[in-house]
Formats: sequence, structure tokens, C-alpha cells
Amino acid sequence: MKGYIVFDWHEFITTPIYQFFDPLDEKRIAMKVITGYKFDNEYYKFTNAYGDLFSFSISKCGAEIGSIKHVELIEKFGKDVRLDKIYYINIWNGTGMDTIYKESFIIKNAFKDTIPEEIANKIDMLVCDYSRGIYYCNDCGKRITKKEIGGRYFAGKYCKDCWIGKTGTYKGKGGWQKLEKEETYE
Ligand SMILES: [Zn+2]
Repeated sequence: MKGYIVFDWHEFITTPIYQFFDPLDEKRIAMKVITGYKFDNEYYKFTNAYGDLFSFSISKCGAEIGSIKHVELIEKFGKDVRLDKIYYINIWNGTGMDTIYKESFIIKNAFKDTIPEEIANKIDMLVCDYSRGIYYCNDCGKRITKKEIGGRYFAGKYCKDCWIGKTGTYKGKGGWQKLEKEETYE
């Protein structure tokens, strides 16, 4: 059996970032002992306005100074970026099968600051759209309905154009469809 820890939407957006690390880990370990259920990082969830569950992870940056990641972060946040102030957030649907959002952001004071408002608003929009059957192509970002999904590759959903290779960043002939066909999932 598995267990998970659920934040309601209000808790999710008002919890200081710090709470998502050691205190949450302590809760998870205590719950494991009490219930005997398997608790893992992937079992942190929140609910949206529709009452649907979504999985999330928030992690510290961990990039080394001078690494490729560091160079990317300088491009995004400027040359004085402090790696220890950067966090990543990932959002999946409840089962973790669909990637909904990932972003990096800066937190000045992890003991006080919550998920930045513009990121919380973006997540709110995306997860409410998800509940209403509106998705976003994981390549070009176009809004698509269930009928307009060309195909899936790991946790990504792609519009028909990116899937067959007309648009998007995957340059292989045939687009994501070709990549998926060659994938052994090993
Ligand atoms: Zn697309």
C-alpha cells in the first residue's frame, strides 16, 4: 500500500518553501512508521479548485558553479545569480503520468517566502485547464483538447503537428512520433 501527503490549494500556495524540505520529510518518515504505507517524494500532492489531485516536487538547485546548468541559470536570472537561492518545481497529474509544468525560480528567504505568485497563478491555470480537459503541447505549448493530442512520449503530450514533425523543437523526421517508435522504454 502507498500513502501520500495532500496539501489543499490554499496550503500549497501559502506554505513557506522551507516546509517542503526537512519538516515534510520528517512527516513522511513519521507517517511511514505509523501506517506502514510506502511514502515517497512522488506522493506529495495538492488539490485544485475542482478537487482533483496533482503530484508535485520542489527541489533545491544543486548545480555546480561553472556547470552547463549554471550557465543556463545565468542566462535566465543574470550573472549575479545565487545558486543556493534557486529552486525547481515540477507538477504532474495525480498519477504522475502527465507532466504539466516545470519551472525554476528564486527565493530570497526560504523560511518566509512561498511559491512566487506568478508561478502559483500559472500552476492554478494549468491544473484547472487539465481538469477541464484542456492540455498544452509539451513541445510548442499550444492549447489542445483530448481529441487534438497527436501522441504521448513518456510523460509528455504533443499536438498533432509536433507529433508528425511539422512544428516543434524535435527535428527528427517524423517528429516525436518517430522518436516514440524508436523508444524501447528500457
Ligand atoms: Zn506542439
